Amino acid sequence: MPVIFENTPAFAKALDAADPLRAFRDEFHFPQHEGKPVVYLTGNSLGLQPKAAADALKQELDDWARFGVEGHFLAKHPWYSYHDELTASTARLVGALPEEVVVMNQLTSNLHFLLVSFYSPQGKRVKILTETRPFPSDTYAFASQIAFHGGDPGKDLVEVQPRTGEHTLRTEDIVAKINELGEELALVCFGGVNFYTGQAFDMASITKAAHAVGAKAGFDLAHAAGNLHLKLHDWGMDFACWCSYKYLNSGPGSVAGAFVHQRHLGKELPLFAGWWGHDKAERFKMERTFKPMPTAEAWQVSNAPVFSMAVHRVALEQFDRAGIAELRAKSEQLTAYLAFIIAEVAKATNTNLEVITPNDPAQRGCQLSILAHGHGKSLFNKLTERGVIADWREPNVIRVAPVPLYCSFEDVHRFGGILKAALANT
Ligand SMILES: *Cc1c(COP(=O)(O)O)cnc(C)c1O
Repeated sequence: MPVIFENTPAFAKALDAADPLRAFRDEFHFPQHEGKPVVYLTGNSLGLQPKAAADALKQELDDWARFGVEGHFLAKHPWYSYHDELTASTARLVGALPEEVVVMNQLTSNLHFLLVSFYSPQGKRVKILTETRPFPSDTYAFASQIAFHGGDPGKDLVEVQPRTGEHTLRTEDIVAKINELGEELALVCFGGVNFYTGQAFDMASITKAAHAVGAKAGFDLAHAAGNLHLKLHDWGMDFACWCSYKYLNSGPGSVAGAFVHQRHLGKELPLFAGWWGHDKAERFKMERTFKPMPTAEAWQVSNAPVFSMAVHRVALEQFDRAGIAELRAKSEQLTAYLAFIIAEVAKATNTNLEVITPNDPAQRGCQLSILAHGHGKSLFNKLTERGVIADWREPNVIRVAPVPLYCSFEDVHRFGGILKAALANT
């Protein structure tokens, strides 16, 4: 049902009153600005703290104090199997089978571990194809893996470029590039959502095209997990990984996630092993020969970082209660409202605020990236001084993400007023 938007506080309040997820906002700590919660539009960089996080952490500290090493088995949430408690929620969140996911390590570490298994350059099949302007950590990971295998990153790492005058990529151009590289292509590895433009890629089509030329397909879902309605199993990608501190609200540097498609489980793939990947029934027999778990847990190397996982557990539990389909429905409406408000402000102030994120809801999550022509970092600083926490990316993009779990329509309306005031004063 299309809604005709209005740029008034009453209209924003009415949308909030009709929002079935509105109560979740009270479950988060908001930084304050002049006695009021800030307009927090940076959940794509670091999600807000769930109020339940402190008790969850304290539980583990108390159990450690009380039990010492025996907390591995006696803690309320036994540390020995802590990651198991995160599996079902994670699988629901990303649209995977429980055996396809594991929570472990950090994002770039997981990317490296998965590249060990899914980037095996052979003969002329050596290239990795990625999007234009991937997150720098991913570029470093790809280039170093290519060099590790004796290849030349300058030749073997290829980026799909946008057409002249365009900021985002067309699926047809991505598929054409995959076909062009053909037998030279070992792996296609894209972000689920590009961190800079906010473009969500058609992961199913990219995977299909990669497989059709004999390449593997993997995705970095840092900006997609908790943002898009993912269906990893059905989309058929070989692997994926994500972090938990952006849309998943699990705290700075918190534990990350990984997905390996069912068809690869229990197979002899190259893998960097550690004791937490060993068959858990026999782990403490401490035998010399590695016997991998027949699940994504085979990729675990170390025992679980329980303090991070404690926060991640309560953060995932919120997603379970809200439901990713319901969050996505709110996200589409809230993001459309933000796009409307930005256009209103551009008109009222006669400013060129170019949103480079696709307008099609199927090609974006909740982030909009604004190219503020003629306005540099000073505009961003003015927003910050007035209580908006947004995000600045060189050379001149302001990223704003109204996260549906805790942002309101009123936040978006307030942002419009502050943006307008900041522009009037630039
Ligand atoms: C945020 C982000 C990272 C950060 O990597 P860490 O290993 O968590 O520090 C990597 N890749 C992408 C695409 C990101 O958005």
